[in-house]
Amino acid sequence: MVTMTDPRTLAGVAPVAASHAVSAAEMAVADAHQAYAAGRPISSAQAAAASVVLPAGSTRSVLDFEPFPFRVARAEGSNLHDVDGFSYVDLLGDYTAGLFGHNPPVVRAAIEAVLDRGWSLGAIADNEHRLAELITGRFPSIEQVRFTNSGTEANLMAISLARHVTGRSKVLVFDGAYHGGLLYFGATGGPLQAPFDYERARYNDLAGVQDLLARVGDEVACVLVEPMMGSGGCLRGTPEFLGGLADACRRHGVVLIFDEVMTSRMSIGGAQQRLGITPDMTTLGKYLGGGMTFGAFGGPGDMMAAFDPARGGALTHGGTFNNNAFTMAVGAAAMAELLTAEALDALFERGEALRRRLQDRVGDRALQVTGWGSIIAIHATEGEVRRPEDLASVDAAVAELVFHGLLARGFYVARRGFLALSLAVGDAQIDAFVAAFGDVVDDLTERGFLVVDSLRF
Ligand code: PMP
Repeated sequence: MVTMTDPRTLAGVAPVAASHAVSAAEMAVADAHQAYAAGRPISSAQAAAASVVLPAGSTRSVLDFEPFPFRVARAEGSNLHDVDGFSYVDLLGDYTAGLFGHNPPVVRAAIEAVLDRGWSLGAIADNEHRLAELITGRFPSIEQVRFTNSGTEANLMAISLARHVTGRSKVLVFDGAYHGGLLYFGATGGPLQAPFDYERARYNDLAGVQDLLARVGDEVACVLVEPMMGSGGCLRGTPEFLGGLADACRRHGVVLIFDEVMTSRMSIGGAQQRLGITPDMTTLGKYLGGGMTFGAFGGPGDMMAAFDPARGGALTHGGTFNNNAFTMAVGAAAMAELLTAEALDALFERGEALRRRLQDRVGDRALQVTGWGSIIAIHATEGEVRRPEDLASVDAAVAELVFHGLLARGFYVARRGFLALSLAVGDAQIDAFVAAFGDVVDDLTERGFLVVDSLRF
């Protein structure tokens, strides 16, 4: 049986009152859920069984959707195949971690080499050094680097190091930002936030953050910021905002940390190279481990010396799997063999072109397409989207209809409309996606769910 949950509840928006009459769009959502569920009895049964032992049926909240997420049987290249026999072009790209596509031969060969040599070494093998050299050779701000198991952990370490080095306690973050499971600053993030002493500012509001630093700058250890808010809605920081922020940090002796867990794919030297802004520290994650569990934080040698007893450092940085054999080997192989400057630039341009095509197809309708390079988001709202608060007006029912409309046509994106191109997605698939998206837009327009702005008044 399919139950209809108010889609606004799912999107983190206050549930509608019990007396609320169900709108035509909400009824269409219920129909879409029913059609999805009817074809997927095996996924449905597996989801129900999983939710007995796993709250919500999995251990990664962002993968949940209504009525239940399909279960993957197999993946290759740019495709996912589910247990009920449906195939999808994977445009989610594991929220940017799947940059190489599924099962690329270079990654498979590196994994097989580790299988031959051994893993869980409890000792050091040279791939760790190779991966560190590749990273420090590329990112302008990273002279020395340390590995972690996730982007969350990389950010926790970077913040803690900045607090240690500066002797200050405050951490400045931006409303709506996502920097990991314990570092989420959106509406529902509070209860699980790592207990640092936070100051909050608005993204893309340079005057606001300048004022804040003028007041409490001498207590602020670091600013943690993404060059483009990824999970926050694919909202680019303007060059003026990010450049001005870097200047203000310098003036107040605040460590500027760029969270490039998502944006590092913007060029071989990350978003920082594309912007020409060098932060003090950078955190990395996602695809740089070649699809294995990964995180990293790095910065100038004098800061990172805090971990080096030979240079007077007093900090120890533990982590059983920090240098796990699979991540070190696969990350080094994938970076060296697949992540050329040319490949990353081509991916960036391909994403820019796709975003323009999607926005063109939308025309005057109440959908916005935001993003940068190969990371894109589709928002079901009318007005310009520059900050997370602009997303309060998203029509959750329309967003859900877009998501299910794309799934029904064989394209997998995130439920909230996020997509990240992988190197495995080809031109023909991009053309097919633009056509499918256009078809969804036309369908929703015909059914009266998507208004054309110019017809509103
Ligand atoms: N920072 C950013 C910008 C992210 O997008 C994410 C994950 N989506 C993280 C940090 C956390 O990384 P992880 O999921 O590996 O902990």
